[in-house]
Amino acid sequence: MKKEIPYKIYLEETELPKQWLNLRAFRPNKPAPLLHPTTFQPMTQADMEQVFCAELAKQELDDSTPFIDIPQEIIDFYKMYRPAPLIRAYCLEKALGTPAKIYYKFEGNNTSGSHKLNSAIAQAYYAKQQGLKGVTTETGAGQWGTALSMACAYFGLDCKVFMVKCSYEQKPFRREVMRTYGANVTPSPSTTTEIGRKILEEFPGTSGSLGCAISEAVETASKLDGYRYALGSVLNQVLLHQSVIGLESKTALDKYGEKADIIIGCAGGGSNLGGLIAPFMAEKLQGKADYQFIAVEPSSCPTLTRGKYVYDYCDTGKVCPLQKMYTLGSGFIPAASHAGGLRYHGMTSTLSQLYDEGLMQARSVKQTEVFAAAEQFARVEGILPAPESAHAIRVAMDEALKCKETGEQKTILFGLTGTGYFDMMSYEKFHDGKMSDYIPTQAELQKGLDGLPKI
Ligand SMILES: *Cc1c(COP(=O)(O)O)cnc(C)c1O
Repeated sequence: MKKEIPYKIYLEETELPKQWLNLRAFRPNKPAPLLHPTTFQPMTQADMEQVFCAELAKQELDDSTPFIDIPQEIIDFYKMYRPAPLIRAYCLEKALGTPAKIYYKFEGNNTSGSHKLNSAIAQAYYAKQQGLKGVTTETGAGQWGTALSMACAYFGLDCKVFMVKCSYEQKPFRREVMRTYGANVTPSPSTTTEIGRKILEEFPGTSGSLGCAISEAVETASKLDGYRYALGSVLNQVLLHQSVIGLESKTALDKYGEKADIIIGCAGGGSNLGGLIAPFMAEKLQGKADYQFIAVEPSSCPTLTRGKYVYDYCDTGKVCPLQKMYTLGSGFIPAASHAGGLRYHGMTSTLSQLYDEGLMQARSVKQTEVFAAAEQFARVEGILPAPESAHAIRVAMDEALKCKETGEQKTILFGLTGTGYFDMMSYEKFHDGKMSDYIPTQAELQKGLDGLPKI
């Protein structure tokens, strides 16, 4: 018997995932190992512990345990804002006149406004368990810094955030939210670190980049007693924690006998997409079911669609381990796209490998088309999306419109990663017709690619 599908599918608290899904363990071809930034040898647990908490270092290197228990304290925190609803976009379907069924998983129902809290709380928990005093991190658009500040406040940890200078200046309210949760926020590049001073000397007046802020945060953690570094995307551990997004989505769809045909997510460092697709991709890898997966990135920072699949540094200062990934080069400074969370030069190794092996597709979209989709979505579905999330909306709408032409009744699932209340300056630009679509030339991309390490 087919149940009628409600606008919002909420799970019971008891249906919350009790284990994270480690997608790497389902792979017959294991991912290429992380390499040490100076010796280029595979990273060991001891190397990792210099930078990360011991338990997180273990998770980072674990490519064989398929499911990892979520500690009860983390489940209890998740209960404050999870399960996140899976929403049937009836209004959007009607507005588009499509026979497709559209579902989205909404991760914006918490104060940080995005999915980042799912990993922030796990990273803070393990830091606390280890008896650390605090953590350092970077933030670009501000969502990760906010999430980690909230998580640190919950466990009574200190949180030092290096915020990319242009965001620090453009988004003062983001900064104040972090300070409300007790974080210490420094604009990056700063004079408080060696790498920051070096970058300022080389590029006076620079407005900063994510790669540079990462280097500053890592350096600070390494110099302070009782501190480790936390990263909000790109790493295996972050994808692991974000698997709650996909696990909940799958439970909700299964409950109503629904099966997604196409699964879509925006991709910055790849954590929300990696989390959303985790249980579905695991099925595909085991030959149990098939799905079409689409990663969506901005055409101004086209990591998957125009980058190279090689070993590269995760940061400008070259202090983090190297990953084999699709990258534009750690020296690539993307144009000032408004989707700050998608302006990263690389893509997590797990997704890079899946894409390289043809198990996942990628598409790049222009900024003005993304905002047009965001606005249309907001008007019919009510939620005001983050510009990052709107990349996924764009492609979900495009796929639904294709169904309208062909008459196919496909089921589309996409990740709505967050809300856009702190991004109203970019919405303003869009409304005033002042937004442009910047697409880097091959020569511009070549500069970043020329700087790739030769390994
Ligand atoms: C950070 C962020 C992203 C992109 O990061 P991923 O690691 O690729 O998921 C997307 N949407 C929002 C709202 C974000 O804050």
